[in-house]
Amino acid sequence: MNVSVSQIKCLRTCPRMYYFNYVHKLRPTVDPEYFSFGRAMHRLIEQSNRDPEATSEVPEDTLPSTMPYHLAALRILLQEHSSHWAENNRSISWGASEQPFDISIVNPATNRPMRNFTLRGRPDCAITLDNGTQALYELKTTSSDIDPTSKQGANVWTRLILDFQISVYLLAARRQLPTIQTVLYDVIRKPSPKPHIVPLTDENGLKIVLDAAGQRAINQRGGAFRQTASKEQGYVLQTRPETVEEYSIRIQEAISKDPTIWFRRSSISRTDQEIEDVASEILQAAHILRAAHHENRWPRHDHSCIGFTPCRWLPICLAGGWSPGDPIPEGFSITQEAAENGKEVQ
Ligand code: SF4
Repeated sequence: MNVSVSQIKCLRTCPRMYYFNYVHKLRPTVDPEYFSFGRAMHRLIEQSNRDPEATSEVPEDTLPSTMPYHLAALRILLQEHSSHWAENNRSISWGASEQPFDISIVNPATNRPMRNFTLRGRPDCAITLDNGTQALYELKTTSSDIDPTSKQGANVWTRLILDFQISVYLLAARRQLPTIQTVLYDVIRKPSPKPHIVPLTDENGLKIVLDAAGQRAINQRGGAFRQTASKEQGYVLQTRPETVEEYSIRIQEAISKDPTIWFRRSSISRTDQEIEDVASEILQAAHILRAAHHENRWPRHDHSCIGFTPCRWLPICLAGGWSPGDPIPEGFSITQEAAENGKEVQ
C-alpha cells in the first residue's frame, strides 16, 4: 500500500473523512470553487515563473463560466505576481515540476523500513537559488492577510513554518539529495471574488433612490433627487453588482498600490531533529492506518466538522453516516479519480 501526504493529512483531520474519501472514494460531486481556482493558479504560476510571457494569455475556459470574477482575479494576480517577482525569478533555476516520489517509510529509531507501506508525494518544484543552494519551491494561496506583522498574517506564517507537508517533502528530498535544506514558500493572497455592490445612477450620474411607493425620491427642500437611503423612512438606494471590468480595475489598483499585501516569499528550513520527528509522525500515521483498515474502525473527530469551512462530508454524518450497500447520498458519487485536496492555506 502506498499512502500520500494528503491521505495522512486527511487521516489526522478525521479518520471518518478518510474512510469516505479514500477507502470508498465517496466524494462530493461538485468541487468547491477554491479547488478550481487553486489548481489553475498552481499551473499558471508555475508556467509564468519559468516564462513570464506565459502570463499574457489566460484562456476563458481556464475556469468554469460561472466564475467570471475568479477568472478576472486569476488574470490580474498572474500578471502582477510575474512582474513583482520578475527579478527574483530570473535568479532562480527552475527544475522539473511535480516530480513524484515514492519512498519507504523508515522507523527512525531502528532505521528499518516498514513492510508493504510506502509514502508518495508530489512537491511543486525543485529549484536552485542564485547562491547555488538547492531547495524546493511550494506555492500556497490563501484568502487571509499574509503580512507577518499582523495577527492573521502571523498565524498564516506560523502554520506554514510548522507545515507537515513541507517536512515530508524535505524528508523525501533529502533521501535523494541531502544538501536540500529549505523550501522557498511563495504565498499569494487571493482577493475576494465577490463583486462590490455599487449604486445605480441616472444619465447625470445621480444615484437613484426610490421611496416606499417605488417612485424616485425627491428631497423635501429644493426638489432635488434624494441621494441617501433610509430604512426607517422607506427610501431604498438602487444598486447593481460591480461589472467584471470594474472589479478588474479595482483589484488591479489595489495590488499595484502595494504588492507586498498580496505576494510574499520566505525560505523555511527544517533541522535534522525536525526531519526525524516527521519520520516518526509518518510511521505512527501508517500504523494507525493499518490498524484502522484491519479493524475497520474510523472514528469521527468532531472538532474538524466545522472549521474554516464546514467539512464536505458533513451532510452524510448529520444524516447518520453511510456504509457500503447504502444508497449513494445526494450530491456525492463514488469516483475512481485521485482526490485533490488542493493546497489552500486555511
Ligand atoms: S463531518 Fe465531522 S465526523 Fe464527519 S467526516 Fe467530516 S469531520 Fe469527520
